[in-house]
Amino acid sequence: MARYTDSSCRLCRREGLKLFLKGDRCYSEKCAFERRGYAPGQHGQSHKKQASDYGVQLREKQKLKRMYRLLEKQFRGYFEKADQLKGITGTNLLVLLERRMDNMVFRMGFSNSRDEARQLVTHGHFLVNSKPVNIPSYLLKAGDVITVKEGSRKITRILEAMETVTRRGVPQWLALDKENFNASIKMLPVREDLTMPVQEQLVVELYSK
Ligand code: SF4
Repeated sequence: MARYTDSSCRLCRREGLKLFLKGDRCYSEKCAFERRGYAPGQHGQSHKKQASDYGVQLREKQKLKRMYRLLEKQFRGYFEKADQLKGITGTNLLVLLERRMDNMVFRMGFSNSRDEARQLVTHGHFLVNSKPVNIPSYLLKAGDVITVKEGSRKITRILEAMETVTRRGVPQWLALDKENFNASIKMLPVREDLTMPVQEQLVVELYSK
């Protein structure tokens, strides 16, 4: 599957905020955004022009897409699905993105980043409701339980992530049981639960043109 392979830190600098794409490094003084909080490239430090409405909407879409590590076609697919669901399209979009298996593994604290989660899922280290699932885009629902497979409980990356998860915290709509290497989805999040700084309505406006 195609994926973005350029520097993750460039994306944070381009979007002008920390997207937390590199696990523990994002919380340390090595964070590139902390050291160079301006856009990458030759003109990164020059005076910014006032962005057009389209420009603002585009940046918001890029920000959200990059946060969840998706390419345009995949992201657009989520928008179309969100648009067909009942309720507010922007909120539906965020909830759909949150329901992805790789995102859940990251949120639950079994990985330090969504990239790492995607790799761990693909390598088959998790069960969903006691059945193996190795598809990062698999959509989870309320009540589902993710368990680290018995044979994968000594993997350093998983153990390290479970050690450091307290630093970023597990959302209140999830329940992590560290001792038994599992976590469940108590309920799907509502808009207020999703605190990342995105204005999803701008994404809806962009795609509705
Ligand atoms: Fe972004 Fe993390 Fe890189 Fe900092 S270390 S710029 S938060 S990806």
